[in-house]
Amino acid sequence: MVADALTPAVIHVPHETQWGAGEGSVAPLLSAPQFPVVIVGAGACGLTAALMLQGLGVPSLLLERDDHPQGSSALSSGFVPAAGTLCQERQGIVDSQAQFIQDIVHKNHDQSPLHLVQAYVQAVPQAIDALETEHGVPWRVLDHFLYPGHSVHRMHAVPETSGEGLMARLMHAAQVAQDQVTILTSARVTQLYLDPDQRVVGLGYVRPDGSHEWVRAQAVLLASNGFGGNADLVAQHLPAMKHAVYAGHAGNDGSAVLWGQALGVKLLDMGAYQGHGSWQPELGLLMSWALMGQGGIQINQQGVRFHDESQGYSEASVGCWPNRAHALGACLTPLCLSWVWGFRSSNKRRHWAA
Ligand SMILES: Cc1cc2nc3c(=O)[nH]c(=O)nc-3n(C[C@H](O)[C@H](O)[C@H](O)COP(=O)(O)OP(=O)(O)OC[C@H]3O[C@@H](n4cnc5c(N)ncnc54)[C@H](O)[C@@H]3O)c2cc1C
Repeated sequence: MVADALTPAVIHVPHETQWGAGEGSVAPLLSAPQFPVVIVGAGACGLTAALMLQGLGVPSLLLERDDHPQGSSALSSGFVPAAGTLCQERQGIVDSQAQFIQDIVHKNHDQSPLHLVQAYVQAVPQAIDALETEHGVPWRVLDHFLYPGHSVHRMHAVPETSGEGLMARLMHAAQVAQDQVTILTSARVTQLYLDPDQRVVGLGYVRPDGSHEWVRAQAVLLASNGFGGNADLVAQHLPAMKHAVYAGHAGNDGSAVLWGQALGVKLLDMGAYQGHGSWQPELGLLMSWALMGQGGIQINQQGVRFHDESQGYSEASVGCWPNRAHALGACLTPLCLSWVWGFRSSNKRRHWAA
C-alpha cells in the first residue's frame, strides 16, 4: 500500500536541540505552538480527559477530525456503568467496586485482564463525580432495568438518556472551561513525531483543504477510539464480524492501532469487541437491550427464537448474523411496548413509530 497524506505515520526526529539541523520533515515543528497535553479525538473520552486535566490546572488541546465532535459517543446510548458514585448514594443504591469487578469477571467468563478491570472500576466513579461536581453534568442512575451481568443498578445517564445528550453536555462543559481546554475541529491527525527516547513530541494534522499543520506536545493522549471503521483491521482481528454492519463512527479507523504497530508496540486483546444484537439496520438505530430485560425476545422471519437473550447483546450479535438473512425482529408483549415508549427519547420515538 502506498502511504498517502492521511495514512497514520510515525516520524522519528532527532533530539529537540537538533531540530534546526536541517531535517526537512521536522522543520515545521520548530515554529509550531506547544501544549502541555494534546489529545487526539474529541469524543466522550477525549473531552472527559481534557476536563479532568483542567481540574488539575493542566491546559490541553483537542484535535478532532470532524467539524463537529460526535464520535461513537454521540451514536451510543450514553449509559456509563460506575460503582460507588455520589449519584448512586443519592438514589440509595448500595454498590461497591468489589461487586462491580465480580460482575464483570463473571459476565466475561474471567477473560479480561484483572488489572485493567480494576483500573476502570476505580477510575470511572472519580470521573463521574468530578463531571458532576466540577462541570455540572447532571447524572441519574437508571434504576428501572438491569443490564446483562449487572447485579446492581449502576448505569449513569444524563437526563436526555442518549449519547447525543451526553456529548452536548460535555461540549458545554468544555466551552465553559475554554481557558484551559482548546478544541480544534476539522483537524485529522496523521503523524506522530518521536524523539530518540521514543517520546511523542509533536503531531502533524491535515485540514479539509489538504493543508498541513503541526503542534508540539509535552504529552499526547490518543482518544481516537478503536478500529471498527477500518474493514481491513476488522477482518484481520475480528473475522466473525467481518460481514457485520458497523454502527459506530467512521472516524474510528484504527489510527491509534496503526501508530502502535508503527512503533512496534505489542498489541493485546485485539479480539475483544462490543457487538449489538439489537441494531436495526433498516432504521439505522439501536433498540435498547433494556427491552430484553423487560421480557422482549428476538425472532427471525420464520418466527423462531434463535438465541438466549439473557446472555447479553454482544453475545446476541454473533447469533444474529446467521439470522439476518431471514430479517430479524423483536417480539414485544404489550407491557414491553408501553414500557419502551416511556423509555425512548421523543426524537427516537418518531423512528419507532415509522
Ligand atoms: C450504537 C452504540 C451504542 C453504544 N452504547 C453504549 C453505552 O450505552 N454505554 C457505553 O459505555 N458504551 C456504548 N457504546 C460504546 C461507546 O460509544 C464507545 O465505547 C465510546 O463512545 C468511545 O468513546 P471515545 O471518546 O473513545 O470514542 P469516540 O466517541 O468515537 O471519539 C473518538 C473521536 O476521535 C476522532 N478521531 C479518530 N481518529 C482521529 C484522528 N486521526 N485525528 C483526529 N481525530 C480523530 C473521531 O472523529 C471521534 O470524534 C455504544 C456504541 C455504539 C456504536
